[in-house]
Amino acid sequence: MLTAIVGINWGDEGKGRMVDLLSENYEIVVRYQGGNNAGHTVVNEKGKFILNLLPSGILRDNTVNVMGPGMVIDVEHLYGEVSRLRKAGIEVTPEHLKISDRATICMPYHKMLDILEEDRLGDAKFGSTRRGIAPVYSDKYMKKAFRMGDLLHPEELKAKLPSVMEWKNLLVHKGYGAPEIKADEIYAWLEKFGMPFADYICDTTEFLTEAVKSGKSVMFEAQLGALRDIDFGIYPYTSSSSTIAAYAPVGAGIPGMKLGNVVGIMKAYSSCVGEGPFTCELFGEEGNRLREAGGEYGAATGRPRRVGGFDIPASRYGILMQGADEIALTKLDVLSYIDKIPVCVKYDVNGVLTDKFPSGAALAAAKPVYEYLEGWKCDISGCRSFNVLPEAAKKYVKYIEKATECKIKYVSVGAGRNEYFVMD
Ligand code: GDP
Ligand code: MG
Repeated sequence: MLTAIVGINWGDEGKGRMVDLLSENYEIVVRYQGGNNAGHTVVNEKGKFILNLLPSGILRDNTVNVMGPGMVIDVEHLYGEVSRLRKAGIEVTPEHLKISDRATICMPYHKMLDILEEDRLGDAKFGSTRRGIAPVYSDKYMKKAFRMGDLLHPEELKAKLPSVMEWKNLLVHKGYGAPEIKADEIYAWLEKFGMPFADYICDTTEFLTEAVKSGKSVMFEAQLGALRDIDFGIYPYTSSSSTIAAYAPVGAGIPGMKLGNVVGIMKAYSSCVGEGPFTCELFGEEGNRLREAGGEYGAATGRPRRVGGFDIPASRYGILMQGADEIALTKLDVLSYIDKIPVCVKYDVNGVLTDKFPSGAALAAAKPVYEYLEGWKCDISGCRSFNVLPEAAKKYVKYIEKATECKIKYVSVGAGRNEYFVMD
């Protein structure tokens, strides 16, 4: 079985938490896009972990984890992430972790460029995580990037570096006026942080093809949500890669294989990190209380997240783009404090009401139309079946299911591995 676990919204829906839970039934977990620009938080019996690059299956002993060709990997960050896990007693060996030789390396100069450009933009900034993701994907498409497989051929790598650095310095040094990038310093960085992964780098296409042939089950883990997809998201406030399920087999290295199931992770309210249109946003006291209740601070950056009520037009669109077969609704417990729960049911675009999710200038102009549902005002984090939910919470879940036209299969009521239930 090939299953993708993907975000329906703007990211931070709790994908890491759901992958950690559902990965029990899968032998292989694959990350297929993005880099360390987002964070998954996983809380289980071993502790609390924030994973930026590693697939969440790394926290299970018997799961093989794959970092696919669609990823961009800052090896210094990976080195740190692996070291932290090892300190916590988690084993990370080439048996557990396979890194695609085709995955792109995110270099220190990509990070530097990201910061230089955001600083240059000042108030007009994109709200980038400043981790070099847009610059490294740009280099990939310029065909000037280095890949993990290059680390296995140090002599060729060393020979190629100076000409690429000469090109890069036209921008970094001559353009932005930052210190010149030196090929030997980059090589030393790669030697220090990249070479230790030499034994982990392999042809993951071959590995996955064999695994699927022999009947192994594979889970694809997305980073960020549908609304951050480079093509279908809130461009240009998107990520630089494809976050959608349809891309999963491509970014994993097995483009010929078909997904069997797409689980969409959808939050019971909305949150959004960084700049860009976020129609359902709540401000003032209403926003602050929701942010506090949901602990909405970025896992990768610690930035306060913008928050809003559940957004029906955006979520319906997210479900469509993901081709979700079923939904895991997360963080329902967070809404327990509210008297009247705000839900954004439609958008008002220049005086015209719509339930479609617009793009470009129309999206920027959209204003939310809010309706309010009855709150339940009691702790539901102990609920382990739909039946025992308070009536108002049942109504809320059913309301969302009907509005988004996708079956809700799981409901999460806490961050811990077992704080969820399966719908009847
Ligand atoms: P991801 O990027 O989609 O993996 O999500 P993040 O990890 O960035 O953000 C989700 C946050 O919510 C994390 O801190 C999780 O531990 C937490 N979380 C996940 N599911 C639930 C839930 O059902 N209830 C509560 N209260 N917290 C949750
Ligand atoms: Mg996150």
